Amino acid sequence: MKKTNIQYLDYTWNPVSMRCDRVSPGCDNCWHLRMANRLAANPMMGLEKRPAYAGGNPVMDGAELDAPLKLKKPSRIGVQFMGDLFHEKIQSAWLSGIFNVMKNCPQHTFFILTKRPKHLLNFVAGLGELDNIWFGVSVENQETADRRIPILLQCPVKHRWISAEPLLGKINIIKYLGGCNETEEHGRTSLQGCGNGRIGNRHRGESLEGSLSQGGSLELRDKGDSMSTAT
Ligand code: SF4
Repeated sequence: MKKTNIQYLDYTWNPVSMRCDRVSPGCDNCWHLRMANRLAANPMMGLEKRPAYAGGNPVMDGAELDAPLKLKKPSRIGVQFMGDLFHEKIQSAWLSGIFNVMKNCPQHTFFILTKRPKHLLNFVAGLGELDNIWFGVSVENQETADRRIPILLQCPVKHRWISAEPLLGKINIIKYLGGCNETEEHGRTSLQGCGNGRIGNRHRGESLEGSLSQGGSLELRDKGDSMSTAT
């Protein structure tokens, strides 16, 4: 587990060494794939992990899996941001192990982000509501928003969020939020009327990230803003 400069997180946690695969145009400049290329060629990297970063079978790192259990201070932890936790190559047994660790760490808040929400939906169907886990989809344009957000909304989870980065085109997600209105003033766009949700804003064309919880509450924020975990 590593400290991170991602503003809304304290740590990133990557229990699986893996190489992801492109699924849509938002993957074109994927930093994970660039990093995986470097790790696959790094002679200091363990011999069992280098093939995984090169595109072979993923490898579970048992010591890394347990890392959140050893961290007592409540922290915000991004899960498997080095890849996609719901990639087809990730074994169900590994997912169960990762979710067990999260369940056993109620002091932490975990953030999962995927471009494969169908696999997420299949996996979480029987999990029940997990209070300390936020489930998110990454979208980059209207087409991927319209494809991934409705599946996220079908997931029987308590906390949902959206990441729209890199933003490759204008996205309107108001239709998914029920009761929200978009207003514009002095070049900034705000969402209002989202129940108990947070109200964020952004300049036209900027990347945005948002959080959805049950009942349609929402948080949107500019990339530079700090994040609050609305519940
Ligand atoms: S799904 Fe995410 S991690 Fe995988 S290739 Fe695309 S951007 Fe990279």
